[in-house]
Amino acid sequence: MKNRLNVEDYIRTIPDFPHQGIMFRDVTTLFNDPRGFRMAIDLLLHPYAGLQIDRVVGLEARGFILGGAIAHQLSTGFVPIRKKGKLPWRTIAQDYVLEYGEATVEIHEDAIQPGEQVLIVDDLLATGGTAEAGIKLVERLGGNILGCAFVVDLPDLGGRRRLEGLGVDVHALCSFE
Ligand code: 5GP
Repeated sequence: MKNRLNVEDYIRTIPDFPHQGIMFRDVTTLFNDPRGFRMAIDLLLHPYAGLQIDRVVGLEARGFILGGAIAHQLSTGFVPIRKKGKLPWRTIAQDYVLEYGEATVEIHEDAIQPGEQVLIVDDLLATGGTAEAGIKLVERLGGNILGCAFVVDLPDLGGRRRLEGLGVDVHALCSFE
């Protein structure tokens, strides 16, 4: 085994999950490894060193694990964006299109104040639909998106182009064809 592992070396690939033909990139093996998890958090934050971050927003569900650790490291607040019906207080909602059908995500209406600098975090960028819905929610609350940070980018699915087309900076630690 190599002495120094890269982030992608900690990610397990599971063929045909959750459907036939899908190569699922399993980041639980990265989260499970003390060195891998710390490396991922440090590298996710690297481009934003010295910049003011007021809130870290995590996308359900693996974005909560990464976003919580990042917020702790920055001593800033963490805000969850959740699937419809999960948040207990007043929310605003954003619909988005999935491969088959539609989905809705929500954020608490008082979670971000106008003008706050926000970093959005998730484990993986595929088509960018989930992240775009998150960006819209933050922007509707008046937050400024400093960037979107992911562990994995799947460039063939076009998410990076989609988010950059919205003027959002995208940072990913590794990519899989
Ligand atoms: P998108 O909206 O960009 O098409 O899909 C990204 C969302 O789906 C993310 O929230 C991510 O957690 C989830 N996702 C899609 N495919 C995978 C995968 O192969 N591995 C993991 N860990 N998450 C995935």
